Amino acid sequence: MFKKVHLRLTLLCAGITAVIMLIMSLCYLYVSETGLYRNQFQAFKNDINTISTNLEQQTVISMEWLSKMEAQGNYRFFVLDNGVPFLYNQLNDPEQAETNARLLLESRNAMDTLPAQNVTVTVSDGINSTLSHSEYEFTSPSTDTRYFCSVIQMGTGSSILEIVVLSSLLRLEQQIEEQRVRFLLIDIAAVMLLGLFAWFFTGILLKPIAENQQKQAMFVAAASHELRTPLSVILSAAECCQDSTPEKQAGFIKTIYQEGLRVSSLVTDMLTLSQSDSHRFPVRKEPTELDTLLMNSYEAFEPLAQEKSIRLSVTLPQEGLPLCNVDPERISQVVAILLHNAISYTPEQGRIILSLIRHKERFAISVQDNGIGISDADKKRIFDRFYRVEKSRSRKDHFGLGLSIAYEIVKAHGGSIQVTDAEDGGSCFTIIL
Ligand code: ADP
Repeated sequence: MFKKVHLRLTLLCAGITAVIMLIMSLCYLYVSETGLYRNQFQAFKNDINTISTNLEQQTVISMEWLSKMEAQGNYRFFVLDNGVPFLYNQLNDPEQAETNARLLLESRNAMDTLPAQNVTVTVSDGINSTLSHSEYEFTSPSTDTRYFCSVIQMGTGSSILEIVVLSSLLRLEQQIEEQRVRFLLIDIAAVMLLGLFAWFFTGILLKPIAENQQKQAMFVAAASHELRTPLSVILSAAECCQDSTPEKQAGFIKTIYQEGLRVSSLVTDMLTLSQSDSHRFPVRKEPTELDTLLMNSYEAFEPLAQEKSIRLSVTLPQEGLPLCNVDPERISQVVAILLHNAISYTPEQGRIILSLIRHKERFAISVQDNGIGISDADKKRIFDRFYRVEKSRSRKDHFGLGLSIAYEIVKAHGGSIQVTDAEDGGSCFTIIL
């Protein structure tokens, strides 16, 4: 399921960014291309102005001058005397004579058919002549090439000299085409990179969620497993109870009661952890005398320790202690979990020391035993939910939730809990508040 979400998120992130990038690229291309056309047309008009000024100043138009102008601006010139094409073009490019004639005709036709606003007309009066030139853009139907065209007309008395200048837009279009391909390649590379980054970052983003979901699934599986045992005992005891003698019934009812208590304690533990997960863990802090709290815990567990012939002692600082701002009930619950474990995992004749140390602004509560101890590998996992070192070691009233509850309570207080090896074997749990 997470792979699907991962893929969808990646596609969404990369897709949105790609669309934005594409729109921006298209906008840029539009602005850049219209600018290029405008500049080219302006440069063409400037050249025509220069040519017109030169023409006005010359008495004779030499072929040499025309060839020079053609080469300079990459233009094509047609000279017409009273509408009759001048020999210049045939001489200059005899093989292309037919094509040139067609091009000339097409350019003239275009000028006649184009709307007036698409044609720029400039008129100037000289001493002996009138000169006008019109610039426009057209597409040659025979070659499918776009041209800027200028028709320069010079009237001297009865004769009219016409010069048609054509500038092909082929090179500009090639330039634009190359620019579009460059942009397309850059966009494709950027989208691929974006896809990679999106895959990587959404992966990082989803990792804790996936881990959390896996933990939840493991929690539910472990909880169901733990609940199944006492429930099946309750069900079979209830079944046997129906057809047994009153004396035997008492025994079955006792079993049902004990297993019911187990289920109840397990459900309470699970509820505590679920409250902690959903941040609904009630912690009511108040100034608390930690030494009194430890003495109360000691008194509560002393009879249990005595039952197993375990020596339980408490060590408190001599000097008066400042109050510590904690939830006394919750901290008592943690101490109870640690003492209960210490008594459970310490053999008879063992000893347990409950102590309180103050270091500057911090308090350290520790429960040290000389019991079976915990291996280094297990130390890393004992705070995990439903983790028990060895199932065979575990008692019936141990579900592997005690230390995870202790961990959550200490965390809710902003403190820390850790386990180390005790000097004479056994383990030492320390809570820092
Ligand atoms: P449980 O309810 O099974 O004691 P906990 O979460 O309290 O669950 O403890 C997890 C496991 O850590 C226990 O099953 C036990 O194997 C180990 N453990 C906890 N406290 C001690 C201890 N004082 N000495 C040895 N092992 C311990």
